[in-house]
Amino acid sequence: MTNLYHKDIYKFDEPIKSYWESTINTNVKYKSLEKNIKTNIVVIGGGYTGISCALSLAKNFDEDVVLLEAGHIGWGSSARNAGFCCIPPAKMSVKKMFNKFGKIETKKFFKNTIEGSNFTKNLITEYKIDCDLTGNCNYEVAPHPSYFNSIKEEANLYKTEFGIETEVFSKKEFNEIGHMGEEQFGAFSYKPGFAINPLKFLLGLAKQAEISGVKIFQKSKVNKIEKNSGKFNVISNGQIITANKIVMATNGFYQDDLFPQLNNMILPVISNIIITRPLSKSELDSHNFITRNPVLNIRNLLFYYRLLSDNRFLFGARGDVVGSEQSSIIKSKKMEKQMKKVFPNWKDVKIDYNWRGLVAVTTKFTPSIGKLDEDEIYYSFGYQANGVNTAPWSGNELAKLIVSNSKELKISKFYQGLPKKFPFPKLRLFYLRLYLMYCSIIDK
Ligand SMILES: Cc1cc2nc3c(=O)[nH]c(=O)nc-3n(C[C@H](O)[C@H](O)[C@H](O)COP(=O)(O)OP(=O)(O)OC[C@H]3O[C@@H](n4cnc5c(N)ncnc54)[C@H](O)[C@@H]3O)c2cc1C
Repeated sequence: MTNLYHKDIYKFDEPIKSYWESTINTNVKYKSLEKNIKTNIVVIGGGYTGISCALSLAKNFDEDVVLLEAGHIGWGSSARNAGFCCIPPAKMSVKKMFNKFGKIETKKFFKNTIEGSNFTKNLITEYKIDCDLTGNCNYEVAPHPSYFNSIKEEANLYKTEFGIETEVFSKKEFNEIGHMGEEQFGAFSYKPGFAINPLKFLLGLAKQAEISGVKIFQKSKVNKIEKNSGKFNVISNGQIITANKIVMATNGFYQDDLFPQLNNMILPVISNIIITRPLSKSELDSHNFITRNPVLNIRNLLFYYRLLSDNRFLFGARGDVVGSEQSSIIKSKKMEKQMKKVFPNWKDVKIDYNWRGLVAVTTKFTPSIGKLDEDEIYYSFGYQANGVNTAPWSGNELAKLIVSNSKELKISKFYQGLPKKFPFPKLRLFYLRLYLMYCSIIDK
C-alpha cells in the first residue's frame, strides 16, 4: 500500500472532531465483524455511495447485502463535508463539455445531475431524515468585477441550454439579499440547491439500510480480497466474508490496495472546513449577512461558505498537501485569515472547529460508475467534490446495474467507465502542487 499522504489522515479508529459530530447523539452503534459470513454482495465503504447502494439493493431488489466500513459509520467524507447540494459533479467548463461530449450528451449529464439533487432531497423527505435542511438555491459569487460577465454567461447557459432556473444579481442587489464583503461583486443563483447537516443525513440513511436488512459492520476495514472458486473472500478483522459480488464505495479514502485494476486512478485532494463561534445579530448585520443558502466564491482556488442554524459561520477551502495533523492546523489558520479578509468585520471572531477530509479527483474530471469487465466488481467514485448531489444517486444507479441482466447503465456517458490511471502515480501530489500554483497565480 502506498499512501500519498501522512498516516494521520487514515486514522480510521478516531472520530474526526467536526462540528457535525457535536450535533448528534453519539450512542449510534454498529457491531464490528467478528465471524465468518456468507452473503451475495459485499459493499466496501459506509459513506453515501455505499449506504445508498446497499439500501437500494436490500429494499428495492431484496438482495442479501453486507456493508463494511473501516471507521465508524460517519467517519468518511460523507460525514465531514459542508453539506452543500450543488451541481455539476465535473471539473470542466460547459464549453469544454460541449467540445468533448457534444451538446446532447452534456444536456443528459445536466438532467442527471438535477436528478441527483432531487434524489438526495427525496431520500430526506421519504425517510423523514431530520438533517437541518436549509436553503432554496445555490449562489455563485464573483470575487472580482472581472468575473461578473462570466457569471452572467453561466447563468444564461444554465437557463437556455439546460432549463435550469437562474437569477443574476448585481453587487448592490446581492448586498441586499445575500451579504456584503470584500469579495462580492455580483452573483447568480440556480435551483435546485440546498444544504444539510451531512452527518445527520448519513446516519438517517444508514438506519434505513439497516431496517431494510443490510448487515452493517463498522470498524471493519477490508485488508485483502482473494478469489476462490469463482467467489470472493473478503478479509476483515481476521474474518472472511464469502460473496459473489463486490461494490467498491471507498472514494477518496481508497488506498490503492485491494484491486490492481482500480489502483492509481484517484488523486485524493484534502479539503478543509473551519467553523466560527455563533455570530451575534450585530456581527451578522455588519456584513448584512442574511442568506442561509450555500455560497460559492468562484475563484480558481475556490472557497465556499454558509450560515448555520445556530449562526455559526462555515467556511471551506482546499486543504494542504501533506496530510499531518500539524499541516491541517497550519492550513486552518491560513483559511481563518482568508475568511477574515473577505469578512473583515469578523476579525475578532473565534474559530471553534476545524477539520478536513479527502475528495476524489480523477483524470476524467467527472464521476466513474460501472463494473469491471471480467469480474463481478462494481465501483462508483470521483464526484469531484460534489458528493451530496451525486453519491446517493450514483449508489442507487449502481444497485440497478448490479441486478440488471444487460449490465448497461442508462445514464449519461459522463458518468460511465473508469478514468485513465495517473501517469507516474507516485507524482500525483506533485501534479496537484503544480495545479495549485497555477491557480494561485491566475487568482492574483
Ligand atoms: C471537507 C469536505 C467538504 C466537502 N464538502 C462538500 C459539499 O459541501 N458538497 C458536496 O457535494 N460534496 C462535498 N464534499 C465531498 C463529499 O463529501 C464526497 O464526495 C462524498 O461524501 C463521497 O461519498 P462516498 O460515500 O463515496 O465516500 P466517503 O463518504 O468518503 O466514504 C468512503 C468510506 O470508505 C471507507 N473505506 C475506505 N477504505 C476502506 C476499506 N479498505 N475497508 C472498509 N472501508 C473503507 C472509509 O472509511 C469511508 O468512510 C466534501 C468533502 C470534504 C472532505
